[in-house]
Amino acid sequence: MNRLVVGNWKMNMNLRQAETLITRLRQQITAPTASVVLCPSFVSLAKAQEIILSHKTFLQLGAQNINDNDEGAFTGEVAGPMLKGLVKYCIVGHSERRIIYQEDNELIARKVAACIRNKLTPILCVGETTNARQDGLAQRTVLDQLETNLSEITRDEASNLVIAYEPVWAIGSGVNAEPSIVQAMTLTIHQYLFNKYGQAIADKIAILYGGSTNVDNASAYLGLHKVGGLLVGGASLNYKEFSSICQL
Ligand code: PEP
Repeated sequence: MNRLVVGNWKMNMNLRQAETLITRLRQQITAPTASVVLCPSFVSLAKAQEIILSHKTFLQLGAQNINDNDEGAFTGEVAGPMLKGLVKYCIVGHSERRIIYQEDNELIARKVAACIRNKLTPILCVGETTNARQDGLAQRTVLDQLETNLSEITRDEASNLVIAYEPVWAIGSGVNAEPSIVQAMTLTIHQYLFNKYGQAIADKIAILYGGSTNVDNASAYLGLHKVGGLLVGGASLNYKEFSSICQL
């Protein structure tokens, strides 16, 4: 089983709600067809880890963000050494951070490096805006993101990487991308990784799709060539929906 399904809870769920959701998922997902990663807020990570360890569940944890420095005067930020041992994965370059918090490609490259330095697997999100797609610049946008975002890590380090293709227009919009669009971009990303790192490493890098996925449309993506799983936002907050996606 090397399919990966990641739930990005974003800024939802207080500690008690997070505890309830993890408990329900643990009970509901009895026959997973994927490795399942939950990304609650920082506040809930320690409790989530406690539940996972005490029940020895298959669930794994990811963070939603990381600072590019390992310590220092960065009020409100969370560093890699704080996450090390707590989570296995970390989302980097999510479009909400690129757009709302104006994280540029260079900063995201340093965050990818911070993950690798701290033995965390970055889930690097890339994807084009509506305008870029309309202007015929979807591939160019994604390739430019990859080129800069991966510029601070070595070839060997790249084998510990997950890429999520998340077209900005599909995130939280209810407008999921046509599978043909996802197929084409996934193959573009894979080809880029193949050219840059060679086949052995490219084959190790899972490429996920994210953008308004739910139990009704998930299978269409999971069946695509080289699509290694899903990054799920809104639907990951509903335990029935998310559990179903993890057992398709
Ligand atoms: C996301 O936030 O990464 C995402 C894919 O959200 P949604 O599934 O809600 O579109």
